Amino acid sequence: MNGQSDNPGARGALLSIVLPAYNEQEVLGKTYARFTAMGPVLEKWGLDYELLFVNDGSRDGTADLLNELAQRDGHVRAVHLTRNFGHQSAITAGLTVARGDAVAIMDCDLQDPPEVLPQFLAKWREGFQVVYAVRKKRKEWFGKRLAYWSFYRLLAAISDLKIPLDSGDFCVMDRSAVNLLNSLPERQRFVRGLRTWVGLRQTGVEYERDARAAGQPQYTLAKLIKLAMDGLVSFSSVPLKLVTRLGILGVIAGMMLGLWGVGVTIYEWSGHIQGRTPRGWASVACLVLFTSSVQMISLGVIGEYLSRIFLEVKGRPTFLIASIVQQGGPGDTAKPTAAISRGVAP
Ligand code: UDP
Ligand code: MG
Repeated sequence: MNGQSDNPGARGALLSIVLPAYNEQEVLGKTYARFTAMGPVLEKWGLDYELLFVNDGSRDGTADLLNELAQRDGHVRAVHLTRNFGHQSAITAGLTVARGDAVAIMDCDLQDPPEVLPQFLAKWREGFQVVYAVRKKRKEWFGKRLAYWSFYRLLAAISDLKIPLDSGDFCVMDRSAVNLLNSLPERQRFVRGLRTWVGLRQTGVEYERDARAAGQPQYTLAKLIKLAMDGLVSFSSVPLKLVTRLGILGVIAGMMLGLWGVGVTIYEWSGHIQGRTPRGWASVACLVLFTSSVQMISLGVIGEYLSRIFLEVKGRPTFLIASIVQQGGPGDTAKPTAAISRGVAP
């Protein structure tokens, strides 16, 4: 099953479904049932499947639940990371471990309904190597929808790459695309951006994003902001260029103000309005405040890039795998498995 899939429609092909899970004990039972119910449908497509749950360092009963499922059902594999590395790292881990000729990335809270998979597989069969999901409708509160809407438009406006609007991580990729994605050395992964960057034949499929089936959202506001920053900083250098432009604007404004000051002084000297000049402390205070804030913001923007360069240079892996639990597989090895770069040592 490994390697390039020369004939993506071939019978006996394997579909890996990567499902990152962080503290999802409430929903996992439902998730397993809904995906397992898709088994016969996939079989009609000539596909075997594996449910590749990536336990992203959960602190609830997720690990035990996944181990139990993996031991009971040969279709389930549970990859346990050593701690919580974050959604994007969990997906990356899943992509590395997946064996399928096609690999799907989906959320494990059933917001991406498994029933729409056949539409994606049809496009894959047509020869598209990347079939990404485009959200028609989100069943989330207005503020969150507005934030997502603005983020995707901002990213599209300033990115050097044409990342499709309103497409999240949900997608089906051919083995060839997964191999290329896995070979990218970047460690701070913004998967949906990298997926676009990879190229090949890509197409979008519209779907309606459901509400979470059970449990609480695991994406905190801080995590969402980090994801947005990762996307913007990894795929655009516009903020950095903006800093330079702001600086130039500041210099021009400063020079004009200087000229104005000289002009006023000369006017005073000529004796027309001596002693009537406003003292100007307010404008000076405003200017100092304004310019220092611009400098602070600019330093912050540079810092965002710098911190990511720092992380990349350190070269630490995106994730570490503690164990993989599957029927008759490597088993729940006592010895932790290290992910070297993004290549996993089995
Ligand atoms: N997730 C993860 N690690 C994290 C946070 C979230 O693996 O640190 C998983 C989570 O279990 C879910 C998916 O990422 O399968 C999306 O998370 P969530 O539903 O909380 O995000 P939302 O759908 O609200 O954006
Ligand atoms: Mg969710």
